[in-house]
Amino acid sequence: MDIFTKFKTLETAFAHLSSISEHNPFGTTIEKMISATIGIINGKETLLFGTNNYLGLSQSDAARHAAADAAMQYGVGTTGSRIANGTYSLHQELEQDLAKFFNRRSCMVFSTGYQATLGMVSTLAGKDDYLFLDADCHASIYDGSRMSQAQIIRFRHNDADDLRKRMRRLGDIPGIKLVVVEGVYSMFGDVIPLKEFAQVKREENAYLMIDEAHSFGIFGEHGRGIAERDQVEADIDFTVGTFSKSLGTVGGYCVSDHPQMDLLRLCTRPYMFTASLPPEVIAATKANLEIIKNHPELMHKLMDNASRFYHALQSAGFLTGPDISSVISVILEDLVQASRFWNRVLELGAYINLSLPPATPDSRPLLRASIAAAHTTEQIDKLVQIYIQAAQDVGVPLKKN
Ligand code: PMP
Repeated sequence: MDIFTKFKTLETAFAHLSSISEHNPFGTTIEKMISATIGIINGKETLLFGTNNYLGLSQSDAARHAAADAAMQYGVGTTGSRIANGTYSLHQELEQDLAKFFNRRSCMVFSTGYQATLGMVSTLAGKDDYLFLDADCHASIYDGSRMSQAQIIRFRHNDADDLRKRMRRLGDIPGIKLVVVEGVYSMFGDVIPLKEFAQVKREENAYLMIDEAHSFGIFGEHGRGIAERDQVEADIDFTVGTFSKSLGTVGGYCVSDHPQMDLLRLCTRPYMFTASLPPEVIAATKANLEIIKNHPELMHKLMDNASRFYHALQSAGFLTGPDISSVISVILEDLVQASRFWNRVLELGAYINLSLPPATPDSRPLLRASIAAAHTTEQIDKLVQIYIQAAQDVGVPLKKN
């Protein structure tokens, strides 16, 4: 027996994918970045529609200058955990900026978004508690739930009635109930009916955590996410999110009004047992947060772009997800068709994401496009043309309208 024997099924599945897909959809290399929306892939200028750079801020001048200055002033790494030598004034300033942006009492900054959700879910839910998770929640939430010793109850995706039913079925329980949901779900780009969930949370006296990874900087008047858009921020106990999408850097956060949040700094393992974010990343994130605060027109442009793309795909006859958001997915029937489509889109000059089962919610492959404020109308229209051409070339049937 070899230690890798357990990966045989994966090896076979990947060998099958490689036999039908000229390029490895999980091994794309961006050789050079030309701008927020154009990169060099396989030696060719390619439109980038598979990044999470929703507001184009990974390339902002303000962030680049702030990062360079911070690197010169502080060095390029902290070499330690937040609870040892890894807290600089910059980390505290960013936590204050984020808390203020969300109108919350406190904020904890983590080294990645994954660690923020992993840490919060695994630490808040104790062994006598109940975790209620949407069936489509991100891997970081499920991983955190496994690290916690809580009872895990999965409810139907975006179905607040199903959550209520499952809570009532439990009857009176001594433990705490923590519900974890997302603002925008990353596979179909569909949006949570958050008012309905807030209602259940109130009725059942539960705690509510929302991951606004794909909605922060995009929804709500100020960009605070779906909770702001739906005016239910008072019902949210913990908001988690990431810097790696609209903020254009890397890192994660949790904001909350709970008066004892600081205790979590002393017991959240993914916060304590890893090095803190380097100064240049913190400085760049602070600079980009200022841009989000002062330039709401960026999120309006993103939504205009998303709406244009979504409606064009629908009128061309593609099967899309239900909502218009930062992620717009086309649902295909099988792996061969999806991988051919993805390869053809790349050959025609655009990079998008291919998501395959079991990572997709309903066992069908998805072609995911991330729409950005930085995309021009011409780039959006070009991607629509590429999709239509690719569908013809590989034989994806389009619905007649
Ligand atoms: N939560 C959700 C909903 C996500 O989609 C992601 C990343 N795709 C994360 C958390 C993790 O964020 P990061 O990649 O910044 O670690």
